[in-house]
Amino acid sequence: MTTRLIILGATGSIGKTAAEVIAAHPDKVAVEGLVAQRQADRLWEMAQTLHPRWIALTDAEAAVALKTRAYGSSIRVLAGLDDVLGVIADSPSASVLAAMTGFAGLLPALTAVNRGMPLLLANKETLVAAGDLVRQAAQASGAPIIPVDSEHSAIFQCLALPQPVRRLILTCSGGPFRGWTTTQLQDVRVQDALQHPNWSMGNKITVDSATLMNKGLEVIEAHHLFDMPYERIEVVVHPESVIHSLVEFVDGATMAQLGWPDMRVPIQVALSWPQRWHLSSPPLDLVSRPLTFEPPDAARFPALALARQAGLRGGIYPAVLNAANEQAVAAFLAGRLPFLAIATVVETVLEGVRENPAVSQVEVVMAADAWARRQADAIILRRGGVT
Ligand code: MG
Repeated sequence: MTTRLIILGATGSIGKTAAEVIAAHPDKVAVEGLVAQRQADRLWEMAQTLHPRWIALTDAEAAVALKTRAYGSSIRVLAGLDDVLGVIADSPSASVLAAMTGFAGLLPALTAVNRGMPLLLANKETLVAAGDLVRQAAQASGAPIIPVDSEHSAIFQCLALPQPVRRLILTCSGGPFRGWTTTQLQDVRVQDALQHPNWSMGNKITVDSATLMNKGLEVIEAHHLFDMPYERIEVVVHPESVIHSLVEFVDGATMAQLGWPDMRVPIQVALSWPQRWHLSSPPLDLVSRPLTFEPPDAARFPALALARQAGLRGGIYPAVLNAANEQAVAAFLAGRLPFLAIATVVETVLEGVRENPAVSQVEVVMAADAWARRQADAIILRRGGVT
């Protein structure tokens, strides 16, 4: 059977890798639509090889050039978020690969879930900010949510049979600054933070990996995906990124999924599940390099604990954490905030939360997100950041 697929965030790192997977299995996946933010040239190029029925830019201004370019083509061009939400809602038989960056991915993903469409989830911020809401919507519509995040894909694969679980253990590469001292971390430059040792990813997630916020977001993601209490989700640093995560069952038996760090695998598993498709890759070599493990350094990388606390508090706290982090990371990438201040900004915004309503409606999470962004921006400005 052919899967009809909509890719949200087509021009990003996951989108590009998904295009490779699809090109290798043209008989199994047909691309329905491609959504990007504003990279018109790259989107048009992808459309020439993936042959979608429609392409869309959420930035309506950027879409003007794309419309000109597509004039006379059979590919429909859509402009702006409202059109994207409309066309997703009109495609209930398609699956959606949610690979946009950040909170911007929430509304398209939620639209798909509300329509009962399978959600192949790479955009962890969707579950971090609105996990309760997305889970309720998935339960109501029956939409399956299949993780694409490599750690969660590993756990998903280990949980192929429904068996009682004692703990989930998320592995963490430790990022580019593993073992660095606080003094060293004070002088981190943007280009240092963008050098991930094992994975090639977009800028936002690469900075999140350097602060360990990414692992914190993944703890919240795992809580929602696998309905697991926070105290039964652990993190272990594993610099080689060969074990992608583990599940410990109630009898102590522990299963792991191993492989070279290669996002084609979790993307393809999400598309092929419960089957597996061929993928040419070098065989795993367990002999030449030992696999090592260590605890995360909570003192130098406070973002991990901040995320866990926000998850435990629940309500709007995870959305606030996520929004403050997105603003702080953007400021760091723009050279307006030092690396170590990212976690400080997030912590200060979290401390300012006065009420914690349940996230039962999307308006609650949108308001919390907007409030946290304003707070974060104000703190960054006060610190001397120039806009
Ligand atoms: Mg991950």
